[in-house]
Amino acid sequence: MEGWRGAWYVPCLASLETLQELCRKENLRCKSIGITNRNLKSYEVEYLCDYKVDEGTEYYLVKWKGWPESSNTWEPLKNLKCPLLLQNFLSDKNEYLSRVKEGKALKVKNHVKALKPAVADYIVKKAKQRIALQRWKEELNRKKNHKGMILVENTVDLEGPPLDFYYINEYKPAPGINVINGITTGCECSDCPAEKCCPKEAGFLLAYNKRKKLKIQPGLPIYECNSYCRCGPDCPNRIVQKGTPYSLCIFRTNNGRGWGVKTLQKIKTNSFVMEYVGEVITSEEAERRGQLYDNQGNTYLFDLDYDSDEFTVDAARYGNVSHFVNHSCDPNLQVFNVFIDNLDLRLPRIALFSTRTIKAGEELTFDYQMKGSIDLTSDSADGLSPSRKRIRTVCKCGAVCCRGYLN
Ligand SMILES: [Zn+2]
Ligand SMILES: [Zn+2]
Ligand SMILES: [Zn+2]
Repeated sequence: MEGWRGAWYVPCLASLETLQELCRKENLRCKSIGITNRNLKSYEVEYLCDYKVDEGTEYYLVKWKGWPESSNTWEPLKNLKCPLLLQNFLSDKNEYLSRVKEGKALKVKNHVKALKPAVADYIVKKAKQRIALQRWKEELNRKKNHKGMILVENTVDLEGPPLDFYYINEYKPAPGINVINGITTGCECSDCPAEKCCPKEAGFLLAYNKRKKLKIQPGLPIYECNSYCRCGPDCPNRIVQKGTPYSLCIFRTNNGRGWGVKTLQKIKTNSFVMEYVGEVITSEEAERRGQLYDNQGNTYLFDLDYDSDEFTVDAARYGNVSHFVNHSCDPNLQVFNVFIDNLDLRLPRIALFSTRTIKAGEELTFDYQMKGSIDLTSDSADGLSPSRKRIRTVCKCGAVCCRGYLN
């Protein structure tokens, strides 16, 4: 089944500056590391690092795109044609000053008015963060295969992209896990859902109404049409397989919950929002990893307990946007088990659907304890072995009904 293809990503060990230097030496353009036609032939400002006033003339220290920081030069303001970068510089300076309440940004030494080192240091860190987040955003949008855009935003601290996270679109079975493709047939409907449509054959109701909204109770499985079905891509029973239709933003939360995800578009109730993907590992491996992970890493382990407890999805290192969705005890997303091209009951796909209308700009959350199994009355955390339960993580979701702990 095509869905199980996947590669192991190997991070490049050479620094960005080394790669840029190599490119320049060989006269090679490489847009993804910032070596373009423009800065091979002439100079382009990447960001502004520092500021001084010498004999009445204003100067900015310029970091040149594609050149190491040792090549930075002071340029008079009148030569600079980068209004956006100037604006970033000034807003970062003001933000720093308002945060540390240090008063003046400049000090005078030998008749030269110069920026205090701490201020310049912050501005450079902020500029580097901005570039790193922009590059990460481009990478995420290059790798994702769904319609919605992924934006990245941090107006809270200096945290950059996560270092050990690799974007994937679908489950990635860990080495040694044999995923057998269960299907050989699909439905013959000319207009789904007819008499013997996929959900009916599996013994369940069609999950969606005519407006493509979910109409079944939590806990019930979704059987979508698959690659053997006679129906085309416009079949109303093909929703999760088409991927996230909404533009979403990975943002830094301002109350210690790390990254979070918010929607940039209004989402109606009972809509498919995103899939939860990661490495598929055995439950024994999940036990082992659960003991190695800190309490943060533990929250990425999602047991596939629809029918058995053989497999767990680990989204700690490999995942999609769902990796960044926070827990809430009063969530706006609900988990459903989905079967499409794989009818193996041990390996449902996990889809998150909205439980109410979600406004543009609102944070998306789901309940980490809801595993989407039919028996919702039992506390699924009780099913975890003692090793996984040992570390308790304090919940900061802020809901009135907050249970106090994530696990
Ligand atoms: Zn059908
Ligand atoms: Zn079908
Ligand atoms: Zn169909």
